[in-house]
Amino acid sequence: MAPASDRPALTPDTLRELAFDQSIRWTSQNDDLWQLIDNDLWALTRNPSLILSTVPEQKLEALLRRVDCHRLVDGIVKARQARLEQPTWFASQQYGERLARVAYFSMEYMLSEALPIYSGGLGNVAGDQLKAASDLGVPVTAVGMLWQHGYFRQSIGPDGRQQALYPVNDTRQMPIEPLHDASGAPLRLAIQLPGLQIWLRGWQARVGLNRLLLLDTNDPANPPMARLIASELYGGDNEMRLRQELVLGIGGWRLLEAAGLQPDVLHLNDGHAAFAVLERARSHMARERVSFAVALNATRAGNLFTTHTPVEAGFDRFPPELVSQYLERYAEYELGISMQTLLAMGRKQPQDTREPFNMAYLATRGAGAVNAVSQLHGHTSRYIFRELYPRWPLEAVPVGHVTNGIHLPTWVSPDAEAHWYELHGDEIPWRGTDASSVDELLARVDDRWLWQIRQHARNELLGFVRSHLARSLAVHGASPAEIEVAGSRLHPEHLTLGFARRFASYKRPNLLLQDPERLARILCHPTYPVQLLVAGKAHPADRAGQALLSDWQRFAARPDIAGRVVFLEDYDMRIARHMVQGVDVWLNTPRRPWEASGTSGMKVLANGGLNLSQLDGWWAEAYAADLGWAVGDGLEHPAEHDAVDAEQLYALLETQVIPSFYARDTEGLPTAWVQRMRRSMSALVERFSADRTVREYTERYYLPMATTFRRRCAEGSALASELAHQLTCLRSYWHELAFSGVQWTCENGQLQVDVRLHLGHLEPRQIAVQLYAEGRGEAPAEVHPLTLVEHDGAFASYHGHLPADRSATDYTARVVPGSQLGLSVPLELALIHWQR
Ligand SMILES: *Cc1c(COP(=O)(O)O)cnc(C)c1O
Repeated sequence: MAPASDRPALTPDTLRELAFDQSIRWTSQNDDLWQLIDNDLWALTRNPSLILSTVPEQKLEALLRRVDCHRLVDGIVKARQARLEQPTWFASQQYGERLARVAYFSMEYMLSEALPIYSGGLGNVAGDQLKAASDLGVPVTAVGMLWQHGYFRQSIGPDGRQQALYPVNDTRQMPIEPLHDASGAPLRLAIQLPGLQIWLRGWQARVGLNRLLLLDTNDPANPPMARLIASELYGGDNEMRLRQELVLGIGGWRLLEAAGLQPDVLHLNDGHAAFAVLERARSHMARERVSFAVALNATRAGNLFTTHTPVEAGFDRFPPELVSQYLERYAEYELGISMQTLLAMGRKQPQDTREPFNMAYLATRGAGAVNAVSQLHGHTSRYIFRELYPRWPLEAVPVGHVTNGIHLPTWVSPDAEAHWYELHGDEIPWRGTDASSVDELLARVDDRWLWQIRQHARNELLGFVRSHLARSLAVHGASPAEIEVAGSRLHPEHLTLGFARRFASYKRPNLLLQDPERLARILCHPTYPVQLLVAGKAHPADRAGQALLSDWQRFAARPDIAGRVVFLEDYDMRIARHMVQGVDVWLNTPRRPWEASGTSGMKVLANGGLNLSQLDGWWAEAYAADLGWAVGDGLEHPAEHDAVDAEQLYALLETQVIPSFYARDTEGLPTAWVQRMRRSMSALVERFSADRTVREYTERYYLPMATTFRRRCAEGSALASELAHQLTCLRSYWHELAFSGVQWTCENGQLQVDVRLHLGHLEPRQIAVQLYAEGRGEAPAEVHPLTLVEHDGAFASYHGHLPADRSATDYTARVVPGSQLGLSVPLELALIHWQR
């Protein structure tokens, strides 16, 4: 019998198509489907491709013949189809003419539990932005590594110590498929390591409209050393890291091209993949038959570098000898430059041959724009990168910022979403429609409704915690009696705090433990009890982090704590999802300014959770007194100051958070608390969504960068060649610049200035002469251009006038490279010459 519509009948392949799409939202509908097929496997793994590879084909076919299942699948397929076909933001703005494609490179991606190729924050940023790009219709192709073992898995033994485990990721049970070349054969790419060629294999995962291409080195034709390159994320020694970054950067760009893609913009999510800058230039050289310098000038305009660390120690650095060993032939034979020239790109002091090769410097020198991931991180990063721009004022260091956001459909509780859906259908703002705002949504529900959703979510979380805990206990050989009572002290009505993050010292996971007795009193208060859920991994090489982890184990095991603290082992996306959906308050206590952005706190917002956090990263720009709580004074302090922060944290809990949670009206509603939930959701949900982040990247970076890139490439890279010529010229003759006179006069209440400049071999059109004054108070620094009035031989005269509200001594004349050719100064050329 033919199906009623002209759609193809539903088959196991339909399910496969759904399973392979990482952008499938975590709606209750999807939950229902996979639960129906295999409830247990779904609860444990959330991996649809695993379920499909496990359940027999006949069973799937039989299920699809059932009316309920058929209707469910049909609904999901139609909804997905409608989503994929609906006009996107990007298309409706007609941006497609200006931007064909963005290539996004990242060492890790956190897309779903089914694809464990991530460690934490960096992968979260990449995964959520990739999903948001699909929702918005921004054409992004992501490139990453297919880590055979992913990041380590954590097991915590009865002794409270962390064990690092490395189970294998089975490619047949992940939502990926091999990439094929034009002839249909599996794609294999060669890259050169010293003295040998190794093979890379290509895979792809679907993320809605976009794809994630993955590289793997586990080709039997490779020597074992090479097969292990894609083994462990953030594992191995420095040389292994270099090999990984060569594969990702150079191999990654080749993979894109082998897949037939020609992106305008290359977006580096952190510096790990910075070698892609070289390979992109090499490919341009070969295609356009130009020199490396010209190719770099052309392609650099389309390279965006997003930096993620707030400390210099966070950058990957390699000994110059090691880099030479791997790249000398590539530099000389492929790029046509000396190894010293290549090494200089990764150095603060290009001439210092002992200086290590820094991937963040390579990324910066190869970029047409650089950005940090929060406003505060922008400040911190300008400070860190200042030495690449000697004699430039700090505020001119060319690092902007785009604050991170999270992909709401991934992190909003499916239950809560189902409730919202009942009331408002598709008008929920995070379902990809612009139909309504969070404010409109909130205006339509009363406090009771909101509070019920919150209570329900907390209860769901506690159910998850109990089963997770029971499994952990069973794995570690606990008795049936112990397993039976696991988590039984958790109470569905008690204030529930969540704290989950990497156990790195700067995150200060032990801040709450500074005074264990006080924490114990807070938790065990007879009338206002509190429960605390903790999770997090410490890198296997980080002893200090592991000690902090053991401290928490000991504390949680104290008999007087009586199960009010639960440590959930093996923090990953699944645990994070449950936690952010259910907790009342999310705690975060990094040492300012070490949290570049942080995203976990954003995940609780739409779920009605509140934040209590250090004024660092995103919270430094999000916090307001009526929507959350803040620790710290907004300044930076050494470790000795921790006790002060801890005191403030305890006091906030004791005097504000806990009383507010337990202050109930006659109907049992915590009205002040719910008010705070409303404020937090209304002010922050949309602002800290990946949707907003990706729109910002697109409009402020991708589009203008694509335009500049295309302009530089036009007519056989004519502009790029001219730029290369100009850069050489400016660098050669800059030292000849000299001020020979700066004269100030005051006329009609205006300051007049006449400047005489020795130009040497330079032409006026190659430079810009300016007056500079530092900012006063809150006001930014002032830069005033001067006009050329006369040019004779090696000299030129300039004139300018200013309002006389500042004294002439506030101003200093300076010369910078001219902007006429569209050069980004000082990013692409950091020359500057000051009057004094
Ligand atoms: C969101 C998330 C992170 C990032 O958390 P931060 O505390 O903001 O660094 C790390 N790991 C997992 C599993 C996450 O879900």
